[in-house]
Order: sequence, then structure tokens, then C-alpha cells
Amino acid sequence: MEDERRRLLDRIREELGDLKVIQAMEHVDRADFVPPSSAHLAYEDIPLPIGEGQTISQPFIVALMIGALDLRASDRVLEVGTGSGYQAAVLARLAREVVTVERIPSLAESAENRLKALGIDNVRVHLAGDELGWPEDAPYDAVVVSAAAPTLPRKLIDQLVIGGRMVAPVGSMGSQELMRVVRTADGFSVRTMGYCRFVPLIGPDAWPEDTLVDDGDPL
Ligand code: SAH
Repeated sequence: MEDERRRLLDRIREELGDLKVIQAMEHVDRADFVPPSSAHLAYEDIPLPIGEGQTISQPFIVALMIGALDLRASDRVLEVGTGSGYQAAVLARLAREVVTVERIPSLAESAENRLKALGIDNVRVHLAGDELGWPEDAPYDAVVVSAAAPTLPRKLIDQLVIGGRMVAPVGSMGSQELMRVVRTADGFSVRTMGYCRFVPLIGPDAWPEDTLVDDGDPL
């Protein structure tokens, strides 16, 4: 593995501990998921543009979110926000099946092609409509949301099994708290994991489209 890539993963390991997700990240090359013009930045711990105003998340945040899902090899996972497909590829190494949804057709298509070309066969990419998540394949053992939501997305909690975990950035468009939710028999419990900044979720469960302004670098 290249020195820069090794250093990136070692730094994340120092901060988060030796999580299984970091071992999984050793097998997924982020350079395969960033545009050629950003290839030299693939192992920097920063988000990078992937077109359509969207970004591939910061590797530290990917590790933090996936780590908090406490995945077992038999789990089925839903990812909201396929983007480049990078996080889906990492999830695919830790779970039995990954269902990932993306709102923007060109991103969904290129992520699907990329995952196929890499021989990753346990990820299903779906083009999302107005409905949040992918209820037809629910319930999931875990849900990870890669775009910011104004409120805790109850429609995604409903797509979890009892005991299922969800990680989602919730807050304002400029800053969110990463929330870890566990669905329980009579509702759900929530704990917060610190601040983050994601691109906003698109659709009726998020902010009105005309309020979506580009005011900086999201995660
Ligand atoms: N996980 C991605 C990064 C995602 S960026 C990666 O590893 O590269 C967030 C993505 O969420 C964007 O591609 C955006 O188009 C998508 N998105 C926004 N709203 C969505 C929605 N309601 N359903 C599905 N995807 C959505």
C-alpha cells in the first residue's frame, strides 16, 4: 500500500481505535472513487468533489459512521446517498448485503458501474425518488445516511429491524450533529457523536430546494 494511504489509515486508527472498519478500508482504494483530477488528493483526510455539487466524504467520517453501526457479517445495510460508491464498497466488506440509494441519476449510474468493475457483487444501487430510503427491501439491520437532514429521519428509523442501528447527520444546513439511533420495541434511543458537515439531503424530507445554497466545503 502507498505510504500516504497507510499514513491516512494509521491516523484514523489512532483516533478511533482498531476498528474492523479500518481493516475494511485497507481493501478499498479511495483513489478508485475520486475523479482523475483529484487522484493526488485521494489519501488526504478531506471530502472531495465528485460532480453534481456532491462530495465523497472525509475518510475519518466514513470510519466513524460505519464503526458506529456495529455491523455483523450477516447484516443487511441501507445507505442513503451513494455518491461515488466508496462508502458502499467499505460497507460491502463488513455486511452481507448493501442496498444504497442515490437521487442523482448520473451519480447512481457511475457508482454502479464502478462497483461492478471492481467485482463488488453484494451492493445494489437504486435511483431514489421522493420517498426516503428503500422501503421495499426493508427492514435493515443498519442504516447510514450520508447527507444532512433537518430532523431525525423517522421514515428511515421505520426501515430498521428492532435493535437496528442508524447513523445520520442531523441539524442545520451548515452544521450537524452525528446521531446514532437504535430502534427499540417501543420507539428508539438516540446518542450524539459530535459535530460534522455534510451536503444536504435532497427531497421532501429535507430543506426546500430553493434554500439549498452552496456556502462552503461540506464533508
Ligand atoms: N457516501 C458517498 C458520499 C455521499 S454525498 C460516498 O462514499 O461517496 C451525499 C449523496 O447523497 C449525494 O450524492 C447526493 O446526491 C445524495 N442524496 C441527497 N439526497 C438524497 C436522497 N434523498 N436520497 C438518496 N440520495 C440522496
